[in-house]
Amino acid sequence: MDTPAPSRALPSVDRVLRSDLGRLAVATFGRAEAGDAIRDALAVWRAGPPTPRAPSPDDVAARAMARLEARAAPSQRRVINLTGTVLHTNLGRAQLPEEAVEAVVTAMRHPTTLEFSLENGGRGERDDHVRGLIRELTGAEDACLVNNNAAALLLVLATHAKGKECVVSRGELIEIGGSFRLPEIMARSGAKLREVGTTNRTHARDFEEAIGPRTGLILKAHTSNYAIQGFTAETQPGELAALARRAGVPFVDDLGSGSLVDLSRYGLARERTVRDALAAGADLVTFSGDKLLGGPQCGFVVGRADLVRACARNPLKRALRLDKLRLAALEATLKLYRDPDRLAGRLPTLRFLSRAEPDIRAQADRLLEAWRAALPEGWTAEVAACASQIGSGALPVDTLPSAALVASPPGRRKGHALADFATRLRGLPVPVIGRVKDDRFWLDLRCLDDEETFAAQLASLRGGAA
Ligand SMILES: *Cc1c(COP(=O)(O)O)cnc(C)c1O
Repeated sequence: MDTPAPSRALPSVDRVLRSDLGRLAVATFGRAEAGDAIRDALAVWRAGPPTPRAPSPDDVAARAMARLEARAAPSQRRVINLTGTVLHTNLGRAQLPEEAVEAVVTAMRHPTTLEFSLENGGRGERDDHVRGLIRELTGAEDACLVNNNAAALLLVLATHAKGKECVVSRGELIEIGGSFRLPEIMARSGAKLREVGTTNRTHARDFEEAIGPRTGLILKAHTSNYAIQGFTAETQPGELAALARRAGVPFVDDLGSGSLVDLSRYGLARERTVRDALAAGADLVTFSGDKLLGGPQCGFVVGRADLVRACARNPLKRALRLDKLRLAALEATLKLYRDPDRLAGRLPTLRFLSRAEPDIRAQADRLLEAWRAALPEGWTAEVAACASQIGSGALPVDTLPSAALVASPPGRRKGHALADFATRLRGLPVPVIGRVKDDRFWLDLRCLDDEETFAAQLASLRGGAA
């Protein structure tokens, strides 16, 4: 009775659809999807090696169901970020505060006053929902919001330096995360790049010599992800502001991260705030919403009212504007800044950044036994000191003392074992993202807020096949 099942012995699509699992597949995914998945599953059997017995309708339905479920799983998944980089661009940067989450859910579910005035029933302006707040928090005369900081710069350059020169130091021609390059944004905006100074030293006189009738604006860009050290000279914002004023052109300060509060208050290194930049004489300041600010992805243009208004009136603004969801999230996030005393407790980004090392170490100690038990045979587990990075171009050379769960594989050639282990952690129901360094695997616990989910998953790791 070893004769292989001839293909005609396979159940028909119709029979599979009428099986219990087949019916469940139809109820869950619809007739068309279920039918396609069943046909695909049957094709695999038909093309595969002969089997001692033909699959039952339920066998086929089970395989179809697995395919359907895999297809239905979201592509963008929640993960646990234990990379040690708090604002990880590839993992979506800032985690939003609960207040913002609630505001977004309401805005998703209902019509809103996005561009509608409840007072007179007439038209409103979408940025009005946050303009007052931004003025309050930064001291700016006015503000306009766009998709991200790259868009903010694009809009500023296209509005105020199109066909003219944008004077910038050679030490600040930044590239952020590969896809944002200042010279390229400038080219697309229609502004001409006028580089001055050298990589390590730029003086006020370099700017002075470059400024002339063709000058559109002077730009300062935060060297977000690097530091130039050694024999260096940077023209101070105050000097640039004075030069710009004399030349009658705007001075634009691209802050990158754009902190709204003095971070030294929370035990972090001091970063120039938006208020500082404006006070130093910047006519316009641009910055991101999802970096140190801890809100949704967006870009700010703040500063002198006439210059901001000109940006808001540029037709490009329409292409770069924010949707109601992000405006809702931003408003809720900004409101938290009115109470700096409770900010670190409510804003996840600041909560993570200001977590003290002993607190993180205590969490690591608490999890060490579960971690050890989750490791493959022969591996060693320990808690070790590490240094978290802020990420996304904020305080680039500053790190924060932290603690990590570390795993070391046995043997001499560890690379394969480590890569394999990292893959298994990424394969967990809520993928855990760590990092391989010095022949060991590291989970920096600074950003571990959902300890329960993490711990529950550790238990399933040991059993999983390598
Ligand atoms: C991050 C950054 C940008 C780009 O901001 P996005 O919000 O990612 O578009 C531009 N300039 C500086 C200085 C930055 O740090």
